[in-house]
Amino acid sequence: MSQDLHYKSAAALASLLDSKEISSVELTQAIIDRTQAVDDRVNAFNSFDAEDALSQATQSDERRSQGGALGPLDGIPVGIKDVLAVKGQPLTCSSKILENFVSPYDATCIENLKRSGAVLWGRLNMDEFAMGSSTENSATKTTSNPWNLDCVPGGSSGGSAAAVSAGEAPIALGSDTGGSIRQPASHCGVVGLKPTYGRVSRYGLAAFASSLDQVGPMGRTVQDVAELLQAISGYDRRDSTSYKIDVPDFPGAIERLKGKKWIFGLPKEYFAQAGSAAPLAAVEEAIAYYRSIGCEFKEISLPHTEYAVATYYIVATAEASSNLARYDGIRYTHRAEAFDGKDSVDIYHQSRAEGFGEEVKRRVILGTYVLSSGYYDAYYLKAQKTRTLIRQDFENAFQEVDAILAPTSPNPAFKKGTHTEDPLSMYLSDIYTISANLAGIPGLSVPCGYADGLPVGLQIIGKPFHEEDLVAIGHTFESAHSYCDEHPDL
Ligand code: GLN
Repeated sequence: MSQDLHYKSAAALASLLDSKEISSVELTQAIIDRTQAVDDRVNAFNSFDAEDALSQATQSDERRSQGGALGPLDGIPVGIKDVLAVKGQPLTCSSKILENFVSPYDATCIENLKRSGAVLWGRLNMDEFAMGSSTENSATKTTSNPWNLDCVPGGSSGGSAAAVSAGEAPIALGSDTGGSIRQPASHCGVVGLKPTYGRVSRYGLAAFASSLDQVGPMGRTVQDVAELLQAISGYDRRDSTSYKIDVPDFPGAIERLKGKKWIFGLPKEYFAQAGSAAPLAAVEEAIAYYRSIGCEFKEISLPHTEYAVATYYIVATAEASSNLARYDGIRYTHRAEAFDGKDSVDIYHQSRAEGFGEEVKRRVILGTYVLSSGYYDAYYLKAQKTRTLIRQDFENAFQEVDAILAPTSPNPAFKKGTHTEDPLSMYLSDIYTISANLAGIPGLSVPCGYADGLPVGLQIIGKPFHEEDLVAIGHTFESAHSYCDEHPDL
């Protein structure tokens, strides 16, 4: 039995747990075994504590035997991106500066997950402080794409996407500041959802760019992603940007909105710019499918798209330069050992020089520059204004359409090393995902085919707080195709 478990959906596993065909301990052991069998090749995990996971599973089995499963995630292992605080576990953000840090508290989404009975499973690799699109900026290790080990898994939630894709976790949490859930989901052939800004609390998520960051679910099916979103969503007074709005029944939206004839927008700027032709072919086939079931299409324009990447790299780096000031070598971070300075400023300098990787330093410097007096108006203020225009483009489009369809990424997963020498070319991988973060709106990536033998994602962008629409639209496509049952050969 245990060989069969690692590629089952969380929903299928929940039924097996309910019918007592398996226990959570058996399931968790199967996931541990799978991870031990493949992770020396995939390198999705920074660390895991098998004993701790098994003890959580034992507690879940006890609850169930007393007739009290807490819900559909009770006893299901969930991989956690190494950017979220779990009390007593390492929190490294894949950075040397936090290599010995152990979190003293739980993030709100982790508290919520614990309340759902899920088994918190391991710490998943990422680009350092979530800055990157390939997971190559990790100070810990390089994660491989399970579909082709020479390729990157995407980033920054590359460990989460690779673990789900390789059967090392049925579902996982990621974070998305400019595409970091959707792009790796697309590259690894899994489903990933970035919620509306404010839907999920950011309390306990190590901040990269606070006005853009959102925690979100990844899984092998849309239903699993909806279930995980359900568990982590909701208002939290500890995050001042968390939004006081009812949390609807996300998995229930699949039935509730079934058969709806959606009106979709196709942004001409996204289709005109698509990089390699192959991802576009798969996306166009997906569009043809929706057309065949009676959905309507309108060509729309998002005229400020061409400024999105530049705007993002000003706003995000400005916020990062301020957020990362806390890692100073004085309090809880790496402190330079061979300290030869005179005062605390020297400690900051030396510790930060040693503790941060190249990309993080590049962004802190860039962010400090765009905020500095004399440049603030020309860069930061201008970017804020452009951000408003980008948001208004979406508001205008949503007057006419229910949701927008687009590629998730201009290209399938690329070979390791392709963009490491040229940061700008790496930044361009986010061209279709970044705008949703700037506008604060939700986006879902669903596997829709292959290009050059590697998975490709269809991106569905929705109105604010309309994640239900995304779930229903994504599920309609998924249930008519077999992509969620196709797995890499590992
Ligand atoms: N790839 C983008 C960046 O490097 C987005 C990262 C993210 O969403 N965390 O900033």
